[in-house]
Amino acid sequence: MLAFQFTGMAQTQEEKVREFELQRQAAEKRNFSAMLDSAIATSQKGDYVLADTQFRELLRMAKSVPSDLVYHFGENSYHIGNYKQSVDWLNKYIQLKGTTGQFSDDAVAWLKKAESELLKERQIQSQQAGLVLSKDYDIDCGPTGKVTCPVCKGSTVIIKKGYINDTYKTCPYCNKVGYLECADYNLLLKGQLEPSRTNP
Ligand SMILES: [Zn+2]
Repeated sequence: MLAFQFTGMAQTQEEKVREFELQRQAAEKRNFSAMLDSAIATSQKGDYVLADTQFRELLRMAKSVPSDLVYHFGENSYHIGNYKQSVDWLNKYIQLKGTTGQFSDDAVAWLKKAESELLKERQIQSQQAGLVLSKDYDIDCGPTGKVTCPVCKGSTVIIKKGYINDTYKTCPYCNKVGYLECADYNLLLKGQLEPSRTNP
């Protein structure tokens, strides 16, 4: 009888602990969702920089990130000009929710904008880096309009070194003449000149 009562008390104690833990988790969840609402409201008011810090705080707190946060952080990132971050999170939302999520249409629309801004950014970066590539230009071959074939260096023969014997092959680019017409030379520089056009 005494033993039974004791077991009963122990169960009650255990239930109380579990109850308390559930309440704590529920409070945590309410707190998180209130903070998320507040961050979304901040973003919608147009205070994107503040919203960004609020979203980041939520990301630090979240054990697993709710899809609402995924979307809104992605959209807000667009507004502060952080396009790479925006593309990343909006893509994540679309992966998560497909086309049927609450924010799917918006996510697709903002993603398109963010991607186009990101592309512009990269173009500007490569311009700033001063990259001018010769393949974007036609090279003037001079008054003769001919250039010594750079593949065989004018010899019309390509030599392949072997262990015992070297093998000799007719150059497939310059048609046994050792030079290229300017148009072909420019194609070659762009990797667009087909070898062995006339002689196999
Ligand atoms: Zn050649």
